[in-house]
Amino acid sequence: MARVDETVETLRWKKFPVLDDGFVCLVDVMGDDPAVVQAARVSYGEGTRHTSDDRTLLRYLMRHWHTTPMEMVELKMLVRVPMDCWRQWIRHRTASVNEYSTRYSVAIDATQATPPDGWRCQAASNRQGSEGAVEEATGAELTAEEEALQRHARDVYQRRLALGIAREQARKDLPLSTYTEAYWKVDLHNLLHFLHLRMDEHAQWEIRQYAQTIGHEIVRPLFPLSWEAFLDYRVEGMQLSRLEREVVARLAQSGKLPTDETGFLAAQDPAWVDLKRCRERDECRAKLVRLGLLRVE
Ligand SMILES: Cc1cc2nc3c(=O)[nH]c(=O)nc-3n(C[C@H](O)[C@H](O)[C@H](O)COP(=O)(O)OP(=O)(O)OC[C@H]3O[C@@H](n4cnc5c(N)ncnc54)[C@H](O)[C@@H]3O)c2cc1C
Repeated sequence: MARVDETVETLRWKKFPVLDDGFVCLVDVMGDDPAVVQAARVSYGEGTRHTSDDRTLLRYLMRHWHTTPMEMVELKMLVRVPMDCWRQWIRHRTASVNEYSTRYSVAIDATQATPPDGWRCQAASNRQGSEGAVEEATGAELTAEEEALQRHARDVYQRRLALGIAREQARKDLPLSTYTEAYWKVDLHNLLHFLHLRMDEHAQWEIRQYAQTIGHEIVRPLFPLSWEAFLDYRVEGMQLSRLEREVVARLAQSGKLPTDETGFLAAQDPAWVDLKRCRERDECRAKLVRLGLLRVE
């Protein structure tokens, strides 16, 4: 118990930097791994103490989506995030939020700046994604342009305030790169759900940095057993649809692993055969590669 308290005290109010001027920090926490186990034992009874130790029980809960015991644990954080990133974050409705008010106070004088090598190109295959970086010279131009734009927006905002315009109206043209701060309180189950979605490579790079930091710097040391199970069964685990499972079964039945695309296409789901582009087939291929059942060309 003392070790858990020590970890909490080491973490409390420690600001973990994210992006160029953001941070996440733990304000308070209620519960730990044993608290999850304790809640679970109410439903399973004393008998479980003999048949499974804490780690085994926690792993069972995670594997079987028996999630309410994880709702017994809560974390309160203070976060500083650019508004565009916050807009994605706030979609997670199962947290309690109290955000810095730019009606009441002057907006935080900080905007997220993109370095010349930080400009990403639009992904060709995924409309929501990015891939690769722009050329150095273009990146430098974009960064200079961004700096001028952000400075101008701030100057206009400050001028409105100086002229006595209400803060609630003066703020309307501040860029989405402006940082905001909020208290964010969430239970462990919903936090892991947030991390699962936002640590994933499909999430935008910026929010991924926050999710990775919360996961590795805060959740991991506070809840080592839950974190381990989360990595094993959610992050590093893999879900196969019926169609994908049947592809694997057909490959197993054929007795040989596909060495090329033709071999993979021979085992694909019948519904995909006539499709020129098929995202589900692409996802299936990627899973087979990850499983070591298909070699990348
Ligand atoms: C990669 C990615 C791309 C995205 N793209 C878009 C996009 O293009 N457009 C867009 O609008 N959003 C987008 N989102 C946001 C996404 O649709 C979810 O709103 C967001 O991830 C929050 O997830 P959630 O609802 O599961 O979380 P929470 O709001 O925390 O909810 C957790 C769980 O509680 C339950 N729950 C919560 N509220 C309700 C409710 N009212 N009714 C029933 N069940 C509820 C659900 O089971 C839910 O999964 C994207 C998210 C990701 C990760």
